[in-house]
Amino acid sequence: MTMQTSNADVSGERGAVDPATLAPAAALFHGLSDPARLAILQHLTVGEHRVRDLTEHLGLAQSTVSAHLACLRDCGLVTSRPEGRASIFSLTTAPELLAVLAAAEHLLASTGYAVELCPNYGIGATSTPDAEHLKPHENLESAR
Ligand SMILES: [Zn+2]
Repeated sequence: MTMQTSNADVSGERGAVDPATLAPAAALFHGLSDPARLAILQHLTVGEHRVRDLTEHLGLAQSTVSAHLACLRDCGLVTSRPEGRASIFSLTTAPELLAVLAAAEHLLASTGYAVELCPNYGIGATSTPDAEHLKPHENLESAR
């Protein structure tokens, strides 16, 4: 992946990035955009789990956990190994995932969790609007 992170790289024309090169990162964030999925990944940071244990610990339906784990495994984010008749799931790259989750927490804190109230992507938003369908944050402005 070629996400540019230093200021020198992202400022000015020289740092202009073809949006297509950001598609993998967008796919990653899209893949992290489901609360159940994020909960599964976050919980796996404490250690490997069987599907049944994840189901109990997270209070999610087994079908939900199984479906997300299968997808997350194909996405390369989790791995599994057989143990008896069960599969034990763990993070493929725990340090990197922990870093992303920690960075997200810091970003949320430093932006005052404003995204929670976003009419396009905030809590309760169910679709991903394209640019011309983005709603303004008018209600948020008037509430201040
Ligand atoms: Zn657990």
